[in-house]
Amino acid sequence: ATPTAVMVGTGVGASQGTLIKGGQALESAHKVDCIVFDKTGTLTIGKAVVVNTRLLKNMVLREFYEPVAAAEVNSEHPLAKAIVEYAKKLREDEENPIWPEARNFESITGHGVRAVVRNKEIIVGNKNLMVDHNIDIPDDATEMLAETEGLAQTGILVSIDGELTGVLAISDPLKPGAREIISILKTMKVKSIMVTGDNWGTANSIAKEVGIDNVIAEAKPEQKAEKVKELQASGYILAMVGDGINDSPALVAADVGMAIGAGTDIAIEAADIVLMKSNLEDVIVAIDLSRKTFSRIR
Ligand code: ADP
Ligand code: MG
Repeated sequence: ATPTAVMVGTGVGASQGTLIKGGQALESAHKVDCIVFDKTGTLTIGKAVVVNTRLLKNMVLREFYEPVAAAEVNSEHPLAKAIVEYAKKLREDEENPIWPEARNFESITGHGVRAVVRNKEIIVGNKNLMVDHNIDIPDDATEMLAETEGLAQTGILVSIDGELTGVLAISDPLKPGAREIISILKTMKVKSIMVTGDNWGTANSIAKEVGIDNVIAEAKPEQKAEKVKELQASGYILAMVGDGINDSPALVAADVGMAIGAGTDIAIEAADIVLMKSNLEDVIVAIDLSRKTFSRIR
């Protein structure tokens, strides 16, 4: 395409809410034949809500949630936001809650968080995080995890001072139209793959809902990037769509990295194209625009 065509193309993109960082990104997009989608915040709305809590110890919900929220309030993760929102509603100072201090806060990317609250060690996250800390998972908890995964929800475990204390079921529904977007991509001869740090059970349930057959779950950030490179090595021209810090290595590795506008700053920086409105359909708009811009010059 002529420099003018590229300028016009990027301009049209911008006016439609698709920020294309330079001509190279616009050019690569028309060759894309495979897209790797992150799950949380990308295919799903990323506004998760707690829908169920099972306590394994004798305590009231408010008492249970206080240290959990005190730890999670330090995390940017959508699941953390859901947990804090839920915990707020259990309190009288709901509008402006004062959480106890969380010391030694640590975020374990793709796994969860850890902190010391009121002299107790609080660990909140997935099963692997508990296994890594040698925390025993009773049958009750395993059962509830299986149940939540079957419902396409995410099960989060809470350990207090080394003892598994509760299981939360968190639901994060698909973005409206997600299923249609995947099916339109199929007609455009673009293959869709889902890569997520979430567990296999939940990942498979969501993939089935959205109509993606190809899933990789429990993937660490480096593994997301590795998968991208592996697909490129097998000949695909690849776009990655993601929103999280954990997606940035894959966004950089992809031929075209696309960040969800509502995503984290690090993902937006790592991407070549930013979907400002956070709409999945803008993935198609971007590819379409590129195809139109670059088919004129033949
Ligand atoms: P995705 O790739 O779907 O965006 P992540 O890699 O961000 O997911 O997270 C993977 C999993 O790690 C989550 O499904 C959750 O089980 C756990 N996790 C990550 N961050 C947190 C957190 N702040 N609190 C609780 N669990 C978390
Ligand atoms: Mg995400």
